[in-house]
Amino acid sequence: MYRFCLAGNPNSGKTTLFNNLTGSTAHVGNWPGVTVDKKEGVYKKCNEPIAIVDLPGIYSLSPYTSEEVIARNYILDEKPDCVINIIDATNLERNLYLTTQILEIDVPVVLALNMMDAVEKRGDSIDAGELEKRLGIPVVKISALKGTNLDKLMDRAYETCKQKREGITVIEDQALKHFIGDVKIALEGQGVLNPMFHAVKLAELDELEVLMHKDTVNMVEAFKKTHQDEIFGDDFEALVADARYKYITKYFSPTLKRKNKDKFVVTPSDKADKVLTHKIWGIPIFLLILFAIFHLTFSENFLFLGGLLPENWVSLEGTAFEGVFGAGGINAPGVVLMNLLEVLTTAISDLVAGWLSSAPQWVGGLICDGILGGIFAIMSFLPQILVLFLFFSILEDSGYMARIAFILDRALRKFGLSGRAFIPMIMGFGCSVPAMINTRTLADDKEKLATVRVIPFFSCGAKLPILTAVSGAIVASFGVGNVDVITYGMYILGVVTALVAVILMRETTLKGDIPPFIMELPSYHAPQFKNLMMLLWDKAKHFIKKAFTIILASTIVIWFVSHFSFSWEFLPDEMMDQSILGGIGKLLQPLFTPLGFGSQLNSMGWVFAVAAITGLIAKENVVSTLGTLAACLTSVIIDVEADGGVGAVSLMIQGTGITLPALLAFIAFNMTTIPCFAAVAAARGESANKKTFRWTLVFWLATSYIVASGIYLIGSFWWVSFIYLAVAVAVAFIIIAYNKKRFSKVK
Ligand code: GDP
Ligand code: MG
Repeated sequence: MYRFCLAGNPNSGKTTLFNNLTGSTAHVGNWPGVTVDKKEGVYKKCNEPIAIVDLPGIYSLSPYTSEEVIARNYILDEKPDCVINIIDATNLERNLYLTTQILEIDVPVVLALNMMDAVEKRGDSIDAGELEKRLGIPVVKISALKGTNLDKLMDRAYETCKQKREGITVIEDQALKHFIGDVKIALEGQGVLNPMFHAVKLAELDELEVLMHKDTVNMVEAFKKTHQDEIFGDDFEALVADARYKYITKYFSPTLKRKNKDKFVVTPSDKADKVLTHKIWGIPIFLLILFAIFHLTFSENFLFLGGLLPENWVSLEGTAFEGVFGAGGINAPGVVLMNLLEVLTTAISDLVAGWLSSAPQWVGGLICDGILGGIFAIMSFLPQILVLFLFFSILEDSGYMARIAFILDRALRKFGLSGRAFIPMIMGFGCSVPAMINTRTLADDKEKLATVRVIPFFSCGAKLPILTAVSGAIVASFGVGNVDVITYGMYILGVVTALVAVILMRETTLKGDIPPFIMELPSYHAPQFKNLMMLLWDKAKHFIKKAFTIILASTIVIWFVSHFSFSWEFLPDEMMDQSILGGIGKLLQPLFTPLGFGSQLNSMGWVFAVAAITGLIAKENVVSTLGTLAACLTSVIIDVEADGGVGAVSLMIQGTGITLPALLAFIAFNMTTIPCFAAVAAARGESANKKTFRWTLVFWLATSYIVASGIYLIGSFWWVSFIYLAVAVAVAFIIIAYNKKRFSKVK
């Protein structure tokens, strides 16, 4: 099977094209660095199926970032049959820089001028025929987004891949060109493949190349000495880069006809950025937008209209839909969806309970309480997860999230944090695993490590049910606050914890340079409906799959170990206390006493300890565990309904006597402690060695203890805040004083 790969700058539309060609649903983001690994799919509309590989986005083939190395090694070593070089035609010249490097490799290349829809909208035009002549490779105008000309692109690529192509260079400087020619002949003599590419890279004294062709390096050094007068300066890398740009301006730029030549146009994007990336207002606006999202997803008092509405305005009392659309106030869209789902799951539970009424008691228990109780507790949050992710995806696809990285870079650079590191952090809101993999784009190892460590604090989709279930139960049981305010507050708490932790690490154990942050801000565009739906579908599929595999298995195990004693005797619900799980829970319970959900709770208090531990397998387990155990307890504590996650936690509040600060501490603990299995494995993979990884585990445990106990203690005894404040100030002083001393020694 022929294999074509997509290579191009970040954000040039590779993944959009890849998805369109292969029908797959890889993540498309309107910011650089979303694809860090290569992805494969199959295109079926040519005479024969063709494998398509999506490479990470790169600006050049130099070995500075791991993406560049992945892409470069792929093209050189795996020898694709054709490279489809996709470029953002609205930025023709800059994108062609990479093209000039790909041309040096002995591989068939086709140029895809992407985003032609945007070029035409501007009124600009590109003479593709002329560009094709000058480049010597096929050029096809496409729009990956609209799907225009994609089959034509593939046809051209299919024709091209059957012909051999020899690498050419655009370097015109006589002395340099001559020298590259000599090196090329020397390399050919050694049987090196892609001699042109390697010759140019050797001339640049590229690190990887110098390692590979040690003997030829001498030639370069000798040449440098003898030609010092002819070639200006001895930074060959800069010389070669300059030569490329010169060639592009001279031969390729003229193919672009601009409508608004010389005129400086203020685009709507620029206008929006004046406000959205404002020096002072940028961050408050972001916080406001984020709050609006949480309000739309979680509020039970939408637009704060509650007080103005007549009592019981739409309570639908007595029907199955009681309270679905609102009780005191109007429910936000996310809540309405959640309630509708609950109507359905309650009906299913009742139906199943009816069927099983004549079955042995333990069968009914296992199926109704163990399985359905646990699964439905977690499934009840799917609508809200999807609504929240819909909004997050809109922010990302519109190009706004890329601005956030920019704004945060400006605000936090002096504290050792670069904007580049915020991209994986913000990705952590979705799932920590791809976010951690994305840290490969960070050039500085210490910054990378610090980032990997704090990514779990950016609350992921799986932690969302913990936040919502506990906040919902807080509102229901204590009558304080709003679910949206509490969940929003917890998200912000996670972000603040992450920032403080990174700053502390960067000032102490992980000191290092902050690499400059260069990122072009993608222009704003309306989010693609198809793209959004694909993302949501992916999220839903992933969630449901997890619910019926890992979480289902966990709930079954939880039910068994909570209904059998160590001597393997069946225990009825009200004796759960003496079960295996109860025994283990009670053993662990004292560990959580400083956090408020330990020994101070009454006899059932161990459930919180157990839930926190099962969360290490998957964070969804926290709520499903509480769901399973709560369903079992409904026969013991009668006046609270245990349906869904909120009901389960409400019931546990009754059963254990846990306090409000302790519940907040419980959320905070789960958000900042060791993440799920998969994330821990990803963190291990991204750690340089075992030792740093062990410290990462210690770091997570320590942070969760400090944050959660802080919340519990300050919430319970307000004056404790002075102790925390004093300690914080002391730590800050010690670090500043120590760094000063070290710094003056260096001087
Ligand atoms: P990658 O980083 O190269 O994989 O780029 P993506 O496929 O993630 O796309 C980056 C952004 O460009 C996304 O917001 C896309 O919706 C947008 N995009 C991709 N192709 C086109 C196109 O043909 N026209 C326009 N206007 N936008 C596009
Ligand atoms: Mg991509």
